[in-house]
Amino acid sequence: MANDLKREGISEASATNERLTPRRGVEIREVGPRDGLQVEKPLSVEERLSLIKALVEAGATEIEAASFVSPKAVPAMAGAGELFKALDDSDEVRYWALVPNLRGAEMALESSAKALTVTISASPAYNLHNVAMSIEDSIRELTRITALVANSSNSREIPVDAVVSCAFGSPYEGDISPLDVAVLTERLLEIGVSRVTWADTTGMATPRLITALLESSSPPDVGLHLHDTRGTALLNAYVALEHGVRRFDTAIGGLGGSPFAKGASGNLATCDLVYLLDEMGIASGFNLSKLLEAASLLEQLVGHPLPSKVYAAGPRIATNS
Ligand code: MG
Repeated sequence: MANDLKREGISEASATNERLTPRRGVEIREVGPRDGLQVEKPLSVEERLSLIKALVEAGATEIEAASFVSPKAVPAMAGAGELFKALDDSDEVRYWALVPNLRGAEMALESSAKALTVTISASPAYNLHNVAMSIEDSIRELTRITALVANSSNSREIPVDAVVSCAFGSPYEGDISPLDVAVLTERLLEIGVSRVTWADTTGMATPRLITALLESSSPPDVGLHLHDTRGTALLNAYVALEHGVRRFDTAIGGLGGSPFAKGASGNLATCDLVYLLDEMGIASGFNLSKLLEAASLLEQLVGHPLPSKVYAAGPRIATNS
């Protein structure tokens, strides 16, 4: 299985799947500046930009840089507009803005964001807590957002990724049926989102649940956004790789959480996934030793140890010596 995966990750999938960027087996979207920092004490825009610069130097080409939410609700994301305007405008890196609603999407586009993530939950109660809308209202809002993007001048360059939170379990309702997630995913693709990412917001996914969902629904180019709350994130990523998933959201140092989900903790750590992919011979475009430098900068900025195992232990073979 590992050999099949290795071959597929390097060449066959890249050759046959146009959604994969040619030089990468796996696309990693770095979400640390948004999902990682949102639960931390607020950093200045300059500090956040310095982290983003370090991530780009480590090889990140897809970065969720901030969310356009109320600074009262999430103080650490204040200044998102200023941050986006200061980002380098090259085509090398695509900066994603998380937006909770149409107003957020308008603000993100006004600030020159080139890609939008919009969360919608598979859990009705979580959706209410997170964005104060029913799932049906969120679908309507997403329809408005896709229309806004389609009518904007650069529409072809602005993908909308619908991130389905609590896809593997909800802190309010418990189990979420794979069928519910599959039906919601289909509806989202029907209303014109560019792609869908399933998020394990509160770390309830297991290899069994990942397999169950991927076997009941396999939308094109589906991504996974995993959290390590119960120590299963890397296991889940491995199982998903075996099932052909080639897109992952990860956060530098394994930072992260949700302000609206009690007990939610770190994202799958970028360094831990890159370490695994490197060892399997699957290209991610990241340089592990530079990623560890970015994690070190992040640790100084947030002022506490980071959850990443590879950051704590260092790479198996020292790459800095
Ligand atoms: Mg998250």
